[in-house]
Amino acid sequence: MIVVLLGPPGAGKGTQAKTLAAELGVPHLSTGDMLRAAVKARTPLGLQAEDHMKAGRLVPDGLVLDMIKERLQAPDARNGCLFDGFPRTKVQAEALDRVAPTDRVVYFEIPSDVLLLRLTQRRSCPKCGRIYNLATDPPKVAGKCDIEGSELLQRPDDREEAVSTRLAVYRKETEPLLEYYRSRHLLRSIPADGPIPTVAAALRKALA
Ligand code: AMP
Repeated sequence: MIVVLLGPPGAGKGTQAKTLAAELGVPHLSTGDMLRAAVKARTPLGLQAEDHMKAGRLVPDGLVLDMIKERLQAPDARNGCLFDGFPRTKVQAEALDRVAPTDRVVYFEIPSDVLLLRLTQRRSCPKCGRIYNLATDPPKVAGKCDIEGSELLQRPDDREEAVSTRLAVYRKETEPLLEYYRSRHLLRSIPADGPIPTVAAALRKALA
C-alpha cells in the first residue's frame, strides 16, 4: 500500500501522517525529515542538501531519489509506506511509478493566507518532534514542549524569506502533480484548513 500526501508546505501533512502511518502499519516517509536528519548528521547527502533547504529550494531530484530507493529496501517498507513531501516534481513521480505503484494520493487543499501563518508560527520539539503553532496550537508554557519540556525550535526554512520561495517552488514544481495523479484516477482532495481531528476524519474517508 503506497499512499502519497500531496499539498503545499504547511498544509498539515506531517501532523496527519504521524498518526495515520501508525494506524496503517506502514512507515511514515517524510523526505523533509530524512533530509533534515542527514543535514544534522553531516552525511555527504546532508552536506549537499543543506544550502538548498535553507534557501527554500528543492534538493536535486537525483539525491532525493537515491535516498528514497535505498529507504524502500528496508524491511519495514515491505508492505508499503506513507509518503509525506514526496514526490515533489514530475521527475520524482515518474521515478516512483517505476519503483512501486501508488495506490492513493490525497491532496490537502488549503487557502494560501492560512499557509503563511501556519509556516511562520510553526515550532517543533527537537526531542519528540511534536509540532506546535504559536497562534492556533501553542504549548502550555511559552516556548517549551508540553511533553519533553525542551526549548521549541523554528525550522530555518520557516522564516519568512524562505517561506515565500518554498510556496513559489511548490506552485511551479509540485502543483502540476495534481493533474498527473488526477489523470491516473488516484487523486482525492480533502479540505485541510480545519481543526486537526476534522482533517484526520476527512483523510480516513478519502482512504476508505
Ligand atoms: P518539508 O519538510 O517537506 O517541507 O521539506 C523541507 C525541505 O526539504 C524542502 O523545502 C526541500 O528543500 C527539501 N525536500 C523535502 N522533500 C523533498 C523532495 N521530495 N524533493 C526535493 N526536495 C525536498
